[in-house]
Amino acid sequence: DIVAAMIVGGVLSVFVGMYLAGRALIPIRRSWDKQQRFVEDASHELRTPTAVIHAQTELLLQHPERSIEQESPQIAVILKESRRLGRLVNDLLTLARSDSNQALIQPALLSLDSLLFEVTEPFRMFAESKGIEIIMEVEEPLALWGDDNRIRQLLVIVLDNALKYTPESGEIRVTGRYASSQAVSIVIADTGCGIAAEDLPRVFERFYRSDKSRSRSQGGTGLGLSIAEWIVEAHGGSIRVHSKVNEGTQVEMLFPRKPLGIAPGRSG
Ligand code: ADP
Repeated sequence: DIVAAMIVGGVLSVFVGMYLAGRALIPIRRSWDKQQRFVEDASHELRTPTAVIHAQTELLLQHPERSIEQESPQIAVILKESRRLGRLVNDLLTLARSDSNQALIQPALLSLDSLLFEVTEPFRMFAESKGIEIIMEVEEPLALWGDDNRIRQLLVIVLDNALKYTPESGEIRVTGRYASSQAVSIVIADTGCGIAAEDLPRVFERFYRSDKSRSRSQGGTGLGLSIAEWIVEAHGGSIRVHSKVNEGTQVEMLFPRKPLGIAPGRSG
């Protein structure tokens, strides 16, 4: 009987051990699957502009008799697609570094008020050409503990989206203020096409685009908001998107006023 009990006990503990080991492996497996999907999606995204550049260049080579004026539409396509490729590679590099915690956040006390004006200014001319007005409502002085380059990158991503997805004669409002004694708030609101309720929870996913053709034609990579989320979280802050179709989108970023909770990066 004792021997039988020992055998049953042994078998049971082997099964329990296997079960526990299996459970412990689930997060590793999930993270592996996620990385695998990221690499597959990235390859897919890189393939499209590469194929276009390849095809257009071959066409150019087939007609050496043509003048540069005749070839210019094809050259313009090659230029556009190579820019897209460059953007994709940069975005992928940023995300890969954030995953491996190599993308360090180097915080300093920033004058967020002047930074907001500086980053917005270059967008103003393009906005005006589209008949879009950019309105600034910025508390002065407004200080933020942050990494200068990363905060600029974040603002460019969100402003660029606001411009991409807002049609003519729209409005973009940039608000910067102290939200409380604890937090600094930046809100970038537009009167653009908005995001459908079912897409809203997914906009921070890598490569997710709620309207693929629109995003692609605007030069979108589907990586902007993933990078934006990483930057805000690496500063110990949070980012939220509120949106209504055909009314507009507000992206709200909250940062701690003190340099607390700054992490070097994000895993997974
Ligand atoms: P993309 O490079 O495609 O703009 P993002 O990660 O920056 O990628 O955004 C993900 C998706 O969220 C976009 O493809 C778009 O569908 C939607 N989106 C982001 N910002 C806005 C906005 N201001 N107005 C409408 N849709 C937006």
